[in-house]
Amino acid sequence: MTHVVVVGGGQAGCALVAKLRAEGFGGAVTLIGAEPVPPYQRPPLSKAYLLGEMALERLFLRTAAFYADHAIALRLATTVDAIDPAARTVTLTGGEVLTYDALALTTGSTPRRLPAAIGGALDGVLVMRDLADADRMAPELQPGRRVLIVGGGYIGLEAAAVCAMKGMQVTVIEAAPRILQRVAAPETSDYFRALHQAHGVTIREGIGVDRLLGDTRVTGARLADGTELAVDLVVVGVGITPDTGLAQAAGLTIDNGIATDVQGRTSDPHIWAAGDCASLMLDGRRVRLESVGNAIDQAEVVALNIMGRGVDHVPAPWFWSDQYDCKLQIGGLNSGYDAVHVRASGEARSHWYYRGDQLLAVDAMNDSRAYMIGKRLIEAGKSPRPAVICDPATDLKALLKA
Ligand SMILES: Cc1cc2nc3c(=O)[nH]c(=O)nc-3n(C[C@H](O)[C@H](O)[C@H](O)COP(=O)(O)OP(=O)(O)OC[C@H]3O[C@@H](n4cnc5c(N)ncnc54)[C@H](O)[C@@H]3O)c2cc1C
Repeated sequence: MTHVVVVGGGQAGCALVAKLRAEGFGGAVTLIGAEPVPPYQRPPLSKAYLLGEMALERLFLRTAAFYADHAIALRLATTVDAIDPAARTVTLTGGEVLTYDALALTTGSTPRRLPAAIGGALDGVLVMRDLADADRMAPELQPGRRVLIVGGGYIGLEAAAVCAMKGMQVTVIEAAPRILQRVAAPETSDYFRALHQAHGVTIREGIGVDRLLGDTRVTGARLADGTELAVDLVVVGVGITPDTGLAQAAGLTIDNGIATDVQGRTSDPHIWAAGDCASLMLDGRRVRLESVGNAIDQAEVVALNIMGRGVDHVPAPWFWSDQYDCKLQIGGLNSGYDAVHVRASGEARSHWYYRGDQLLAVDAMNDSRAYMIGKRLIEAGKSPRPAVICDPATDLKALLKA
């Protein structure tokens, strides 16, 4: 019987095995995950779950019964140590060897840390990637304590929002000239800077950490300009690196992640990859789209192609972030934009990215309608004139029909 082995029990791995069964795949399926818990959604870890407003059970993507009911062998707390592409086997920690007909790598990514040489390994210096990280961090978030967030990207800012809502004294430092610089326009950075400042968060941009101070537990931070801050806790949110170690050791092509073709196949025809660990070609560049939407879409395409369907993956990027009462929703990819146009009415605000006349992406703050319509316009290749978009009197929905 055909055996599909999936390495990595996260968002992509779970979507992949579920899709195989939904499409009627009748072979054997094994999903191997290094974490001790069944696949779960990560976004709430830096949002509602960290805040204590979401129960653990609600994180899980599927019930325990789902795997049994669909004959999916779920191997938890199990790590794959090596792949032998010639023999088509994987070796688990402890030495057990499994044979596969098709292998899918959905190994995700690892958060970057500050080097131990500058205090990155002190107690009280935390990162946010998995459930264990969230469970470690949650009890540390006590009113009045001083937290330094290193990195003003989405994860850092979400952590900052939770800390501020917990009554902590929060400082965010960002080495780039502005928060969210890597992912958003200045208009969006300005919006979130103001939002955080309104909640009492100190934001310092264009400055890095020189070193973290303390003997065993962090007690302070010296910034690049020599300023010293007393801190009780440090949260590091400085990006992720794709988990490509297994693939690299197996001789697969690595290029900004595990390189996949348009159908999700790696450089070995029997090995596939999806999610944060995988890179794909988009607009002539090899990119990784670190998001739930991409993990699911890529994984489902891989499942279909393992079944021989020959389906191409057409990325339709979307993302979201929750900070305080603001729900940010992003549709499209803004890379290469040369202008940003603002639509605002009341609490709702959206930033529309253009390259020339072409609409590329939209950041919508508390404006689900702008997000949904923007995403659909982009997917349909429609680019309304910016003046029309920015006019609050324009009925956005009508633009879909134009
Ligand atoms: C705190 C946080 C907030 C986020 N918020 C958002 C958001 O608001 N919106 C959004 O779109 N995205 C968000 N993301 C990103 C999103 O969660 C990821 O893009 C998504 O989880 C990627 O799915 P994945 O399956 O590729 O990787 P993961 O979900 O990380 O799963 C990979 C799994 O593989 C396991 N693994 C790795 N190597 C091995 C091995 N050798 N053997 C066995 N198992 C292995 C890992 O332990 C892990 O469990 C957030 C991420 C985090 C951490």
